[in-house]
Amino acid sequence: MLRFAVAGTPHSTPARGGTVEGLMQAHRLGINAMEIEWVQSVPKSPERMAEIRETAEALGITLTVHAPYFVNLNSPEKAKLAASKRRVLDALAMAELCGARSVCVHAAFNLGLPPEQVFENVRCATEDIMKSKAKLFPHVNLAYETMGKPTQFGTLEDVLKISKEFGNYPCVDPAHMHARTNGLINSTKEWNEMLDLYENSLGKKALKSVHMHFSGIAYTVKGERMHLPLQKSDARWKDFIGVLKEKKIEGTVVCESPLLEEDTLLMQHTYQKLIMDN
Ligand SMILES: [Zn+2]
Repeated sequence: MLRFAVAGTPHSTPARGGTVEGLMQAHRLGINAMEIEWVQSVPKSPERMAEIRETAEALGITLTVHAPYFVNLNSPEKAKLAASKRRVLDALAMAELCGARSVCVHAAFNLGLPPEQVFENVRCATEDIMKSKAKLFPHVNLAYETMGKPTQFGTLEDVLKISKEFGNYPCVDPAHMHARTNGLINSTKEWNEMLDLYENSLGKKALKSVHMHFSGIAYTVKGERMHLPLQKSDARWKDFIGVLKEKKIEGTVVCESPLLEEDTLLMQHTYQKLIMDN
């Protein structure tokens, strides 16, 4: 099954709603997946995680998590590197407790270093993080995201290579790839090539449990500027949904539009209509 996830608690959730209330609202709207946005910090309460897990299970909602933004696995400063690894590990451990299946992470900034060295630094940090897998996050995938700026670690090739090495799968964000290439990756042909590369690297089965992002996006020659609503962007989003259908992709596509549930439902309904018309 392919699910379209809302990126965080829906806007229409009754006042002061948190994740649990957000799950209930998503369910009322007919949405069956959510990415929990721990982008500022990771919560600490195991009781709260149990509550999220029970609610999501009861409502049949699949969960993914977005890890904090304050991560740089390429930092030359020991304290910053240690804090980055800690934040990623905290997100993975809490994701395990709340029943999320994958955690996406913005792995690193390049800091002007040669790409091979950045890769090696991220690889070393990943090795450390993965040492805790059996103990802290046995059922959770560590998903490095394809990033929207050339100053960030995260080309499709890099995240595939490092994911494969550690038995993970990345979080492919075609909007970021579109921004990073200043307007490429916005056609059926390019998305097919993108998914072919994914399949060639991780195997055909990997297409049945993806963790992807999608949205409209504003960009300059320096890459990503900000996310945009689907219909206020240059994204050929209907064609993208056609590719998801033709390739029989399964798993979760998180809609990262600022319109949250509105655009999540737009994607979901467009996809369902394509399936019905066939
Ligand atoms: Zn992200």
